[in-house]
Amino acid sequence: MKQVTEALIIYADGREICRNGRFGTAAGRREYRGRTTQMVVRQGGRCCLEGYAPMCHGRLFSEQATFEHEDGRGMGGAKRDDRTELPDGTWINGAAHEECNIWKGSRYIDYNRSFQSRRGSTGDAPDDQRNQLSAGSVPDTGQALEG
Ligand SMILES: [Zn+2]
Repeated sequence: MKQVTEALIIYADGREICRNGRFGTAAGRREYRGRTTQMVVRQGGRCCLEGYAPMCHGRLFSEQATFEHEDGRGMGGAKRDDRTELPDGTWINGAAHEECNIWKGSRYIDYNRSFQSRRGSTGDAPDDQRNQLSAGSVPDTGQALEG
C-alpha cells in the first residue's frame, strides 16, 4: 500500500520518497530541494560528512548541497527514505557536498548522532544567514550522483 501525492510517495511503513526524478513532478523536485535546504540549516551550514570525508572543507551552502541518504538507497532505491526526521524526532539523512556524497556512496555513517548531541547545548547558529545571501548556483545533480 502506498499513497501518492503531487510531491511524495508515502509507504505504509512511513517511508517517503520525493517525486523528484526524471519522471517526477515539479512539486516533488521542490520538496526534495526544500528538504535538502532544511537539513543545511539544521546542520548549522556544515556538511554532514565533515570530519568523515577527507576532502570535506566543512562549510556548506544550500545551493551546493545534495541530499545524502544516511542508509543508502538500496538496490533500485528499495530502501530509499527521503524523510529528514522520524516520528520520534530522530534525525535521518543529511545535506552534503556533492563530492562528499559520492565519496560516502552507500555506506552507513552515523553522522546525525554527533549533530543531535550538539543541538541545544550551545544554541548558536554559525552564520546561517549567509546561506541565503551567497551567490552562484549549482545545477541540479539529479539522482545518479546522490548516495
Ligand atoms: Zn562535505
